Amino acid sequence: MQRTISPQECAEMLMAAERVVALTGAGISTAVGVPDFRGPNGLYVTRRYDPETVFDIDAFLHDPKPFYDFTRDFLSVVDSIEPTATHRFLARRESEGKLHCVVTQNIDFLHQRAGSENIISVHGGYWTSRCLQCGQEWNFETLRSRVETESVPFCKDCKGLIKPDVVFFGEAVRGMDRAVAEVEEADLLLVLGSSLTVYPVASLPAMARCPVIVVNKGPVGLMPGPNRFFADEDLDEFFEAVGAALKS
Ligand SMILES: [Zn+2]
Repeated sequence: MQRTISPQECAEMLMAAERVVALTGAGISTAVGVPDFRGPNGLYVTRRYDPETVFDIDAFLHDPKPFYDFTRDFLSVVDSIEPTATHRFLARRESEGKLHCVVTQNIDFLHQRAGSENIISVHGGYWTSRCLQCGQEWNFETLRSRVETESVPFCKDCKGLIKPDVVFFGEAVRGMDRAVAEVEEADLLLVLGSSLTVYPVASLPAMARCPVIVVNKGPVGLMPGPNRFFADEDLDEFFEAVGAALKS
């Protein structure tokens, strides 16, 4: 049987902990309109992007246009959104010295915008891009301005294809060693808004030697266990209640 946890109990465990690590997935951002790629309102569904094609490295090398169509849409959405209550909750715990690190599967910048500093972005992001031929690096602003005016951006020097440092299917995730070390050192692990279906990140909670609190709307691919606590609830409502309990 899954053991359910209340916001009050979560707050008590947070108060007792000294080195909290949070693992976050797309579900932390859906409240502000960032598409949960796998959820029922995912961008792939609503705008007919096929993740198997958009983020497949071989498909990208063969035809990068679907990825850049997605990128153009994604960047226009990302620009108009703000961090959620849960992003801000995590940033506050970090500034208090309670939360040590955020390991995120997301590429939407919202942890950074909320003020989190120690972030391991295992699926990379759009911060940097590089030419696959000569290695020339572009920053985010360069990529954005080129994507706005060109269907597919190419290197000005060598005409090579530009690829953002987003991790595609078939590519190694980033910072996995650091993420494993953080999880092993943690005395409380929060798993937030991830269905834990994408590996190897989904294997992280099983490496924890501490209690694991899973908050996600919907099913999660983690077996029940003596040190595992689950809340199938809206993240922002849950952590607003946790925040209130911490103050009381
Ligand atoms: Zn080049």
